[in-house]
Amino acid sequence: MFSDRAPKSPAAIKPLRNTRSGIYRPLRVFVISVFLGALPLVINAEERSLPAIGFDLPLKCKLGQNCWVMNYVDHDSSSVVADSACGPRSYDGHKGTDFAVRDMQAMRRGVYVRAIAAGTVRRLRNNVNGHGLKIPADQVQGKECGNDVVIRHADGWESQYCHLGLGSIRVKRGDPIARGEPIGQIGMSGRTAFPHVHLSLRKDGQLVDPANGRPVGKGCGIGGKSLFKKSSKIRYHRSRLYAAGFAPSVPTGSDIKRDAETPPLIARDAPAVVFWAAIFGAAKGSRLQLTIIAPDGKKFWTRDVAITRNQAWRMAYIGRKRKAGRRWPSGRYRGVATLHSTTAKGKKSQTQQISVDIP
Ligand SMILES: [Zn+2]
Repeated sequence: MFSDRAPKSPAAIKPLRNTRSGIYRPLRVFVISVFLGALPLVINAEERSLPAIGFDLPLKCKLGQNCWVMNYVDHDSSSVVADSACGPRSYDGHKGTDFAVRDMQAMRRGVYVRAIAAGTVRRLRNNVNGHGLKIPADQVQGKECGNDVVIRHADGWESQYCHLGLGSIRVKRGDPIARGEPIGQIGMSGRTAFPHVHLSLRKDGQLVDPANGRPVGKGCGIGGKSLFKKSSKIRYHRSRLYAAGFAPSVPTGSDIKRDAETPPLIARDAPAVVFWAAIFGAAKGSRLQLTIIAPDGKKFWTRDVAITRNQAWRMAYIGRKRKAGRRWPSGRYRGVATLHSTTAKGKKSQTQQISVDIP
């Protein structure tokens, strides 16, 4: 989530570890893929044609389940924004693709950033402190990319990985790197308001959008071909409902970005019961429907939230405050969030369901 003026160096990683279990967790299926070695073979093949083979994702994750594309490349050279599909999921001058994890908790557990193809470390920076969710611009001026690694691949290709954790980079300049090799970890260094890795891709010095294979500035549109391997299952999504949860009070956006986990229980005397949902790429004209179903099966509260403007990130919630002298009825509360949107291919909906117990 930054505009990299000058390419820097490549980054490193850790595997996504799925830890906490919780009542809402069964809804998410985490698949940890296995790094396949066969290094010399891979390098030889990549010397022939990298795009034909396809790049790996910079994270070992399942898109839409434990990682999400948060911003695409901006193809428009003016102040207008045009993402890979000519939509608004970018910001002015954004030169990469941002792959986000769910929250800072996931980041703290350690998420390795991995080389998208075999190559050699060209340069790196590993001396920028991590920042919080709100960073004054002057604190990161000239260091928008934060800690980063640049890897030179075959045939003039180069990849850059930004916002790595301070001290997480585990490669050195000149190191040969295998495809999928961890180079550092997601951090929050540089200009970033969400835990993610920013990936920039260049061919002979020209920025290329890996989502559609087009040189940046030569026209947006998904008519192009993704440069990622088919198995990455990367597809353009105008909007992604990526998380939902319960809380005993109204959470702020920063609360959700820090920790999107629902607590194991909500106390009977909690000040409120709140159900929230969060979206990457909120799209004007879409509608987020939020419902809490009480333990007796009756609707507890429901709300339809009209999305009236495009936003990179958006949350909404419903809930009730506890009345004085009363306690919440015990049992399992279920939250259902459905994002309704209209795309060129018709109407679409995405749903997340989460439950929490009040003992
Ligand atoms: Zn970025």
